[in-house]
Amino acid sequence: MSEQAYEVIIVGSGAGGSAAAYGLVKAGRRVLLLEKGGQLPRDGSTLDVKQVFAEGRFKNRQSWVDNQNRQFIPGEFHNVGGKTKWYGAALLRFAPHEFEADPDHKCLGWPIGYDELAPYYEQAESLLAVTRFDNEPELQQLIERILASDPAWRADALPLGLKREILEHPEEAKHFDGFASACGFKSDAEWNLLDALRGESNFRLMPHTTATGLLYADGDPAQITGVVGADGGSYRAGAVILAAGAMSSPRLLQDHLEVTGLGDCLPSAPLVGANFKLHANSALLGFSPFKKTDLLRKTAIFFNEHYPHSTVQCLGWMDGEILATQLPAAVPRFVARAMGARAYGFFVTTEDGSHADNRIISCGGHGGLPVLDYELGRLPPAQQEHQGLIRAFESALRKAGLLGVSRYMGLAGTAHALGSLVTGDDPETSVVDADGRVHGMQGLYVADGSVLPRSSRVNPALTIYAWGLRLGDYLTNGALR
Ligand SMILES: Cc1cc2nc3c(=O)[nH]c(=O)nc-3n(C[C@H](O)[C@H](O)[C@H](O)COP(=O)(O)OP(=O)(O)OC[C@H]3O[C@@H](n4cnc5c(N)ncnc54)[C@H](O)[C@@H]3O)c2cc1C
Repeated sequence: MSEQAYEVIIVGSGAGGSAAAYGLVKAGRRVLLLEKGGQLPRDGSTLDVKQVFAEGRFKNRQSWVDNQNRQFIPGEFHNVGGKTKWYGAALLRFAPHEFEADPDHKCLGWPIGYDELAPYYEQAESLLAVTRFDNEPELQQLIERILASDPAWRADALPLGLKREILEHPEEAKHFDGFASACGFKSDAEWNLLDALRGESNFRLMPHTTATGLLYADGDPAQITGVVGADGGSYRAGAVILAAGAMSSPRLLQDHLEVTGLGDCLPSAPLVGANFKLHANSALLGFSPFKKTDLLRKTAIFFNEHYPHSTVQCLGWMDGEILATQLPAAVPRFVARAMGARAYGFFVTTEDGSHADNRIISCGGHGGLPVLDYELGRLPPAQQEHQGLIRAFESALRKAGLLGVSRYMGLAGTAHALGSLVTGDDPETSVVDADGRVHGMQGLYVADGSVLPRSSRVNPALTIYAWGLRLGDYLTNGALR
């Protein structure tokens, strides 16, 4: 395809970008997908604990600062498929009520209801082959004890993007949560969406290509006509979709508003980067006196009626080698091995709500570093619910014979970075309209987790895939110039 031939340029190949690309390409649209990172190796190195966790070989190295100008490196991944390559493939729908505003918990509402996204949830579940597994014996016993400890607890099977064959491949079954599959046993944006587009004449994926700016019509910075790459290339199309993730898409738009002066007159400009959400996430390890041998583990999710914005999810395999990467180096290996063999991992999540001061600021820190100004303390209902839930789950574990130890993921734990370009009907309170178009601009859309006004009590990827598929559909059905 020649450069002029593109109808749509998508920036970023994670959940949202790949889903939008899938819908558009399958509908015959000519699409260019720019991805900052390269394709991950499929040689097994992405399953190796030492390379993945101890050495951080595949992590990004971009420094950010917090609101005290303290540097940190967020847990972002720049590779084809984005963070979906590393996710735990827990692919859940948000509940219908989680599309409504919840002022008491500081949650904004969506401009669309659950029913509008439902067909795209269904399509995403089918493309990602979402399935449920039976609980293994030790987990089943633990669940029974937890439910017996307090009737407020309920456990459901966790919908997972995993092929059943993974159970016959222990190396993959032990290393899918936080690792990237070498054989496609875990569904992700690359294996399940982009691989299905390879070879299509109307699709071009350009890895190792970072978008650094937006092109616009002569004298009209509100009309976007393409993208500038770090390679110096100019890529033009009738529509540009930002899908660089909730920490990067708002920075591209902020830079454009700043450089062109458009920010002075665009009503939604002050909200670009604002309302950033992270979920209140904590890792919780339950230590048992006995060795644990379940393989897959991550097959159940807990709800508690006293903590309606929260869930507790089982994590994948744990052993001494993995645990050692999270412990101080002074802890002897044999201790880590003994503890790891007796540990069950859980992921405690609470919806954090939105605060306008929780925001991303492009180049706002020392040395022009990007700023993540986020404090969970600005959202007291979420903070209190999260702490209460951890106490309740640790108590349930104690009654089941396990000692719980938890750790809040903090700012660098950006796995669930969301909501920095929120969607809504009003340009004074949102950045992107209900169709995914940036308010007050032409030719610019957003497909990634930036748009989420609410983060819900469960993981976000399925909702981002669904939003991306819906945007692809919208553009296909007439919105393209
Ligand atoms: C360890 C881990 C476990 C997780 N587990 C789960 C889970 O079990 N279930 C779940 O639902 N979610 C999970 N998540 C979260 C999930 O992966 C993300 O919510 C989802 O991938 C976000 O999709 P996205 O499209 O918004 O952004 P991303 O997936 O981050 O994709 C953004 C892409 O844009 C690229 N990019 C950035 N800037 C540029 C630029 N300037 N030019 C070109 N390309 C650019 C990036 O390299 C990246 O590929 C997990 C995440 C992690 C890290």
